[in-house]
Amino acid sequence: MRLILLGPPGAGKGTQAKRLENLRGLRQLATGDMLREAVKSGSELGREADRIMKAGQLVPDSIVIQMIGERVDGPDCSKGFILDGFPRTVGQAEALDAMLAERGTALDAVIELAVEDAALVGRISGRFTCGNCGTLYHDETKRPKKPGVCDVCGATEFKRRADDKAETVSARLKEYYEKTAPILPYYKGKSILRRVDGMAPVEEVARQIDGVLERV
Ligand code: ADP
Ligand code: AMP
Repeated sequence: MRLILLGPPGAGKGTQAKRLENLRGLRQLATGDMLREAVKSGSELGREADRIMKAGQLVPDSIVIQMIGERVDGPDCSKGFILDGFPRTVGQAEALDAMLAERGTALDAVIELAVEDAALVGRISGRFTCGNCGTLYHDETKRPKKPGVCDVCGATEFKRRADDKAETVSARLKEYYEKTAPILPYYKGKSILRRVDGMAPVEEVARQIDGVLERV
């Protein structure tokens, strides 16, 4: 199964992608995670991406299209994938369609997580992850059961993203509405766009996504 989770930063794409990965054996392909790895490696690409990401802007299409192209054929994607944070422009969406058509495949569904702006800032500014296994937490809504210890792997180091600051979030939202939201009519025109209520609690969003996938 080949899916896209689409929505603004903080909509819950990563949260839902991780669940689908565990439950259905699909692979989460998150361009944001790939870019953060490149930043960590200190490569030339990483240094360029770091500057752009800290400004809350989008990195050039050619970079992320190549990153995804190198991953979709991997053995870890044999049961399919969930794209999280890609595509983010109509150009990326068109390149993805062409890439899949070349392989004789296509997307099964594009699931939009609809969330109001007012909720996004709070979700993003409270977000943190386990430094070891990447499990997602939130200062108010999802704290580790034992303070300072990851529920999943027991690690005690946690991370916050450099771009999860209030001043960067507004730039990221602006990019979303200007460059990413136009993808919604693109997929609507192909009759594969499905909308779920991203304002609902995590379990309810998951239930709605399962409902969509049953009909795919
Ligand atoms: P995205 O990948 O779309 O940027 P995340 O999955 O990282 O979003 O979620 C952002 C933050 O919001 C995280 O701290 C997460 O725990 C929290 N979150 C995710 N889904 C929900 C939800 N349905 N309701 C409330 N908080 C949520
Ligand atoms: P994310 O982890 O999806 O919130 O992405 C973090 C940042 O990485 C974004 O604000 C962009 O700067 C960059 N990025 C991630 N995915 C893409 C993409 N598909 N196209 C352009 N930039 C991206």
